[in-house]
Amino acid sequence: MKCHNTIVVALATAFAAAAVSAQEAPTFGYPVGFSVSKMDTSVSPRKDFTRYAAGKWYDAMEIPADQKGVSGLSLMSKRTDVLLGQLVEEATRKAASAPKGSPTQQVGDLYAAGMDEARLKALGNAPLQPVFQRIRAISDKQQLPSEIARLQLATNDTIMLGGAVTPGIRDKSKYIFVVSDSSLLLSNFEDYYKPEAARYREAYLKNVTDTLVLAGFNISESRAFADKALAIETRIAKVRQPLLDQNEPDKRYLLMRYEELKALTPAFDWDAYFATIGLTPPTEVTAVETKAMAERSAILSELSLDDLKMLLMWEYLRRVTGGLSPDFNEPKLALSRTYFGDSFALPTRSKQVLDTIAGTIGHPMARLFVEKNFSAESKRAVEDMVGRVHAEFRSRLAKNTWLTKATRQQALYKLDKVKISVGYPEKWIDYSAVDIRPGEYFGDLERISEFLAQRNLARWGGPVAEDEFANPSETLPTLINAGYDPLRNAIEIPAAFLQPPIYDPKGDPATNFCAIGAVIGHEITHGFDSGGRHYDEIGRARNWWVKTDEVKFNMETQKLVRQSSNYQVLPGLQANGELTVTENLADVGGIAFAYGALTKYLKAHPEEDTSIDGLSQAQRCFIAWGQVWSDKIREGFLRQITATNPHAAGQYRAYAAAQHEPGFYAAFGIRPGDPMWLAPKDRARIW
Ligand SMILES: [Zn+2]
Repeated sequence: MKCHNTIVVALATAFAAAAVSAQEAPTFGYPVGFSVSKMDTSVSPRKDFTRYAAGKWYDAMEIPADQKGVSGLSLMSKRTDVLLGQLVEEATRKAASAPKGSPTQQVGDLYAAGMDEARLKALGNAPLQPVFQRIRAISDKQQLPSEIARLQLATNDTIMLGGAVTPGIRDKSKYIFVVSDSSLLLSNFEDYYKPEAARYREAYLKNVTDTLVLAGFNISESRAFADKALAIETRIAKVRQPLLDQNEPDKRYLLMRYEELKALTPAFDWDAYFATIGLTPPTEVTAVETKAMAERSAILSELSLDDLKMLLMWEYLRRVTGGLSPDFNEPKLALSRTYFGDSFALPTRSKQVLDTIAGTIGHPMARLFVEKNFSAESKRAVEDMVGRVHAEFRSRLAKNTWLTKATRQQALYKLDKVKISVGYPEKWIDYSAVDIRPGEYFGDLERISEFLAQRNLARWGGPVAEDEFANPSETLPTLINAGYDPLRNAIEIPAAFLQPPIYDPKGDPATNFCAIGAVIGHEITHGFDSGGRHYDEIGRARNWWVKTDEVKFNMETQKLVRQSSNYQVLPGLQANGELTVTENLADVGGIAFAYGALTKYLKAHPEEDTSIDGLSQAQRCFIAWGQVWSDKIREGFLRQITATNPHAAGQYRAYAAAQHEPGFYAAFGIRPGDPMWLAPKDRARIW
């Protein structure tokens, strides 16, 4: 169930796994993986390392119309989509003869139903009408909480107010109920109220209006409601918790008694809500975004019943458009173009359906993918790399001099307990009970949502399950990403991620250590970054730091904040050093452990310590790192991620972390006075 306490820390920038079409992407003459042909050797590595490592690639790359950017990772993603496209088409051919409830039947039938655009167009807004009629029949505000609960089950998402069952934040032996308010349409909350963001608000109004008209409302009521929707979301956006506070569990998760929850949101009948979702109300809950929750309650009490009914229809509608006629894509595209430019296009229908399958029955699809496309040798080789990088961090931590003994021992204990899974889960989520019928796209998606919502709620009271690769947007085995979950102290490296430029079974040591090895190091460091350090070896929110060590840690991380804040993303737009400090610190750990582990490996295997293409292993290490992060991003998207995303732009990531590693200076002869020189006093000495 989607909930605001999902805090898996992803590796890649936000667009890496985003819209791509299921045809092979143009790579403009360059390989997707490591290649010296991408380098611009007319530029000195001492001056502009990003260009030196990948300048020719930057010059040649053009951003495809259906993407927010292009990078080595987005090209990997595209290649995976080709494989997934072949796989689902094969499943479609075999679905009729496959056992009911098997991955082949489910994936095949859902894909075929999603691809039947003619049928979806003919249905128009008809699939919405049963729920609309139910909402229209509401005659009393007292009935709203039950309806809100039903909509949560139908969409597997919180609407207005609600919650989900998750493993405890401070006690891992039990599940807790986390309450929250629902998501907003615009991801950058400042766009709701900043004077210079007026055009986004215009686009918002148009999106709401046009979507409602497609759903059968007349134009004037649609317009009138759009204004109200914007006013409501603006109220919520203004009281949302600042992104930086979300890192700190004591600020993020508030434990309250059930009576206190009722007092916080007096207009919402939680008894009715819990009765409808089928749970006995807990005696205490954990709340996130309490100010926004109180505001939602105020909205419930202030708005008329008719406005609230309209609001519920809208909130339901905007979550289910993906299962409707492709006509519903048009308002979405118009809103996206305001952000990403008029040339921005939607992905192909096939890719849209693939993404929907990934987000709903991701595990059955990933099972088919792994059986066909992931080798046991890759899994073993990457597990070996995990061991080497982990050992490198461990030996550094054991010798660490700035931590007191007590903190150091706790850190070693946490490091020893981190669970790292490569490829795919030991136990797949069993979807076999979900009734997926040929030709029923909308109904299928609703039944999957109900299944996922009920599966989540049914965990209440049971033992905490070890969920692996279960986050469809971060760690599904078919994703181009990797993730660390501080709430479990666990790292997942999806199968699809293990291809060039991240991992190449035929690559030389440097290009693998400083790509997949650095990714592993990056993820391990997340357990000890400004957010992850607040959790212990089993993912409990618990402060295991001696106070003086915390002070030193913060002093060192401030160096990264300053380094990043000095970076100009676009003319007049500085990077947000505070927002990106966790990811930038993870990068520093990633490249440092990778380089350290590589050095040890080459000592043990001197025959592999060779110069290739005129470049030493040390040089190839940092060039590989630079090439992994090379990206070209649409300006509108770059502005959006600079404001909201903890990952810095790739052109910065390509060199910034390396500036904290002495080996970087040695490899390229970078000296004081060079633009790439970072004075030793400004380098973070953390791990
Ligand atoms: Zn990360």
